[in-house]
Amino acid sequence: MPELPEVETVRRGLEPVMEGARFVRVEARRPDLRRPLPRDFVKRLEGKTVTGIGRRAKYLTVDLSSGDVLLMHLGMSGSMRVAMDGTPSRGKQARAARAEEAPGDFHHPRSVTLPHDHVVFHMSSGATVTFNDPRRFGLMLIVPRSELSSHPLMRKVGPEPLGNAFDAGVLAAACAGKKTSLKAALIDQKVVAGVGNIYACEALHRARLSPRRQASTIAARGGAPNARAHALVDAIKAVLNDAIKAGGSSLRDHRRTNGDLGNFQHHFRVYDREGEPCPTPGCNGTVRRIVQNGRSTFFCPVCQK
Ligand SMILES: [Zn+2]
Repeated sequence: MPELPEVETVRRGLEPVMEGARFVRVEARRPDLRRPLPRDFVKRLEGKTVTGIGRRAKYLTVDLSSGDVLLMHLGMSGSMRVAMDGTPSRGKQARAARAEEAPGDFHHPRSVTLPHDHVVFHMSSGATVTFNDPRRFGLMLIVPRSELSSHPLMRKVGPEPLGNAFDAGVLAAACAGKKTSLKAALIDQKVVAGVGNIYACEALHRARLSPRRQASTIAARGGAPNARAHALVDAIKAVLNDAIKAGGSSLRDHRRTNGDLGNFQHHFRVYDREGEPCPTPGCNGTVRRIVQNGRSTFFCPVCQK
């Protein structure tokens, strides 16, 4: 499943071709995604202009001139493909989009229709944005902007790990009193948004903390952060920033919107590296795999305490 860096990579790919552009035509080819598309999906998009593209946790939020937000989740296997139409509509926006694609990043031959292309946006920038999702766990909803933060999918989502509001105090407070493992706490979206199995393993290794340690041990009595909480927050921010720089990790289906693969998987220190030597300088440990809450955890039992 894509985690924060993969979703952020997709957001950055969509921004130059969607922001400021209008939905000229929307095709909803297969309405039965994880949740059915809203009945008036096409009507609420066509003719509206995108005023901004954001991300909250693993969701993309597309702000519309109507005051609605198009909320999108890539699910397990979803991807967005951008193709530039040869005949963009006239206007400043189209020119801007053409200028932005100059490096060639988003320039592809007129795309063929693939099976599992479920939703297609034809934008006034000349871009065609196609949502492809073989397993159909993805999701597209339209929610009034004023109701977004109280929406059931958003209401309980914790702080953004790359935001200023996320620090050792916040993480320690969320973990204080938690009897679960530290790994389980990190992938809990209520504790911190957008971190999943891969980046939880990688952050714990960087912070040299055992995934099996009880979550509450990063807080002092009373909930104040200790040195472990500070190290862990620094590690989470660092690994997410490094992964975004690398275009995310390509496991199974994650692709950037231009079809390229992200390459952070080549920089994993422990994830999917069972039996390999621990990369921590001076450590002679071997990466182990254990199963926690039904998910694989990779860690070094020597330097992660
Ligand atoms: Zn080690």
